[in-house]
Amino acid sequence: MTAKLPKRPRAFYCGNEDEGKISFLHSINQALRGKAWENVKPLPAYDCFAELGFVPAGLLFQNGWWFHCTECDRSFDVDCWDYDKDVALHPVFERDRRFCSQACRNTWHQNEQKVARLKAEAIAIVTAKYPGSVIQLAYVSLAYLDRPDKQRVDFKVLGVAGAVEWTSEQPDTVSVRRCDVEAWQAYKAGLEVSA
Ligand SMILES: [Zn+2]
Repeated sequence: MTAKLPKRPRAFYCGNEDEGKISFLHSINQALRGKAWENVKPLPAYDCFAELGFVPAGLLFQNGWWFHCTECDRSFDVDCWDYDKDVALHPVFERDRRFCSQACRNTWHQNEQKVARLKAEAIAIVTAKYPGSVIQLAYVSLAYLDRPDKQRVDFKVLGVAGAVEWTSEQPDTVSVRRCDVEAWQAYKAGLEVSA
């Protein structure tokens, strides 16, 4: 007997009147599940990008897609013209990201770096404060890129079932689910004993 090879996902266009995307899925039914797309169709020409996980935005642009800028949300199409401001646009594409200008690309990358730095700082505080913690998620809101005091980290520790939430606004306290309060106190007591 030969083992059945898993089927490779295929590219499907999933679209509505005002938005569309390409998803890599195993069947058209999978595409129809979840969001109510009005238009779902296979796009075999893009199947080869399944492993990559996205179709390069520059290629889609060449093929007639229009986009919202990943950074500023301005829309642009193959005409590369901002009809509101009556100026030419010089879009930049990078993986699945599309920017209406080099300036937007630079801003996006600067913000990415800020996010990474804020996350790393918050995670370092949590892991130092709560030994054995396993970080689940560090949240950085784009609205708070310049506010290290507005960060949040969710983490798990042994013995506590749910996630523990820490915020930089109140760095000396955490939130846990009501049913986890006792377990959290036991964890804390354990820290004090070993300290
Ligand atoms: Zn832009």
